[in-house]
Amino acid sequence: MINRERMVAEFCELVQIDSLSWREGAMAAAVIEKLRSLGLEVEVDDAGKAVGGETGNVIARLAPARVRAHDERLPWIMLNAHVDTVVPGEGIKPVVVGDKITAESETITGADDKAGVAVIFEAVRQIIDGGIAHGGIEVVFTVAEEIGLCGAKEMDFSRLRSKMAYVMDGGEEHGTITVAAPYANRMKFVMHGKASHAGVAPEKGVNSIVAAARAIAEMTLGRIDDESTANVGVIHGGQATNIIPDLCTVDAEARSHDEGKLEAQTARMVGAMKAGAESIGATVEVEVERQYNGFRIGPDEPIVRLATEAAEGMGVEVSLQVGGGGSDANIFNELGLAAVILSTGGASVHTTAEYASIPTMVHAAEWLVAIVERIGDGE
Ligand SMILES: [Zn+2]
Repeated sequence: MINRERMVAEFCELVQIDSLSWREGAMAAAVIEKLRSLGLEVEVDDAGKAVGGETGNVIARLAPARVRAHDERLPWIMLNAHVDTVVPGEGIKPVVVGDKITAESETITGADDKAGVAVIFEAVRQIIDGGIAHGGIEVVFTVAEEIGLCGAKEMDFSRLRSKMAYVMDGGEEHGTITVAAPYANRMKFVMHGKASHAGVAPEKGVNSIVAAARAIAEMTLGRIDDESTANVGVIHGGQATNIIPDLCTVDAEARSHDEGKLEAQTARMVGAMKAGAESIGATVEVEVERQYNGFRIGPDEPIVRLATEAAEGMGVEVSLQVGGGGSDANIFNELGLAAVILSTGGASVHTTAEYASIPTMVHAAEWLVAIVERIGDGE
């Protein structure tokens, strides 16, 4: 049986350890101690150096537990959560109100993704205490997820034995398996105009803000079609009202489940920027970067089938969902590790209204145990 009180207490303990992206050192130390006390072998990879953070990804192994001879052939599976959080995420004071855990003051709660961390710990305890047969479990706590999946991108995959991963970073609705996620491009535009005194010699200036504004006004943004979205998210420019601004930067993104549509949307946005610049004699520097590649996993793939059958065995009907965001699962899939995201209990994430749903966390831990039990049954 999943120990609800213990999991809630552990979650509250974990969210009180500040761990903004790049500053996950204390959090890593805490989870390493817990993993070791559970008997797992733990190592930290070199991703910390690569991303410029305090620590690398924590990779822990629970040796195979064999009950019968054929257990030797059971596959390894990986359970993953990320240990960094977004801002405002310092000094979190968790409060339990009914079935929810929220934060007392104006911070996030840290359910994204410490709900995942607490769920994994509770499931692993249950697997060990229950003497459940399995082919080996890798617990991987990634860093710097929120700033662009950086920890996962720098992970040394040669250290992993698993070919399947459950990413515990999902929402509140029980039984949700996220089986697809989009491709994404990030764009940075630097518009160069020409500075001049706005009152004395305006005709000598070229207004970079106007060029950017014209370009953005020509873009189609928001939901582009049923597979694609686009956004201009940040704009910076200008110094004073009496100076024609020579510099304006614009940060934008596009996402699509179809790589061709992503490239087409990106090209339209770049084209609009170039046309906006040309229209008033400005120039634009363009930088396009692939943030991550998308994935789509079929219902009959073992990673999905195992989770579906385990949920059905618990009397829960699964819902296979197409995600709109990127997560470490994108990186794992890209590198050949089949990964899906399971509902974990985080709600209203990335806002100060964030909370963790305790029933979903309990369900998620039971779900992981049921998945491992099915692996142990040789499914
Ligand atoms: Zn997350």
